Amino acid sequence: MSINHDIRNLLDIQDSNIHFATNCVNQKLYKGRMSKFISAKLTYIPRNCTVCGMANKDFSIIKNGTQESRISLPMVGVHRTFLLLKKQRFFCKSCSSTFVAESKVVDRFCCISNQSKSLVTLKASEAQSITLIAQDTCVSTTSVQRFINQYSQSMPKKHYDLAKHLSFDEFKYLKGRMAFEYINAKTGAILGILPTRLSRDIRDHFMTRYSYAQRCAVETITIDMNAGYEKIIRDLFPKGEDHYRQIPPSPTHQSLDE
Ligand SMILES: [Zn+2]
Repeated sequence: MSINHDIRNLLDIQDSNIHFATNCVNQKLYKGRMSKFISAKLTYIPRNCTVCGMANKDFSIIKNGTQESRISLPMVGVHRTFLLLKKQRFFCKSCSSTFVAESKVVDRFCCISNQSKSLVTLKASEAQSITLIAQDTCVSTTSVQRFINQYSQSMPKKHYDLAKHLSFDEFKYLKGRMAFEYINAKTGAILGILPTRLSRDIRDHFMTRYSYAQRCAVETITIDMNAGYEKIIRDLFPKGEDHYRQIPPSPTHQSLDE
């Protein structure tokens, strides 16, 4: 197995456009605390320009340097953990604009990973204090409060909506335990988080929260190719086996990896 595979597995990062090299993990003092820094590069061949929308034909979009972001991840071991992500910059010859590679690991203009945000939301649902959540997730108390507010505002008030295109994800939650989340694959909005990824619990959750008609309306489900969700998906979303799509390929990018 490649180092890419091992580090992605360790960090629960499913985006195969993020590339790790040998000796990419370093430990050093940061703001007075020992922290872990993991270097990586995000690159791919874009299908369209994100500014003007023109398709990338005959090298109309070219690579144009990189831009580094320091992204907070959930802790690996006992130290704060950061992803030093060199994001590919692109230049579009059609509109003479530059834009930066994107990943579902982190939202645009944000330096806190979506995994960390999910962890905050999950801990908040267990009625933990904001200070404690901030300590456990290495996110400031202000950000913790903001994520909780955003999540509660995004939740449907009277009935639960299910998107046509879903993405299933999992991340480390407590020692030795994984949590499960499902998101709207088009918008990236978190639709639900469970503190377990057991098939029985996931099945119960969807069966009690969504009607049969709602589940029939789901068209695609993107899952990690290592995850064993095929059977649940067949049971819950009755459109059949062709119904789910494993990643890669990602819906918007061509991967350069492997
Ligand atoms: Zn353009």
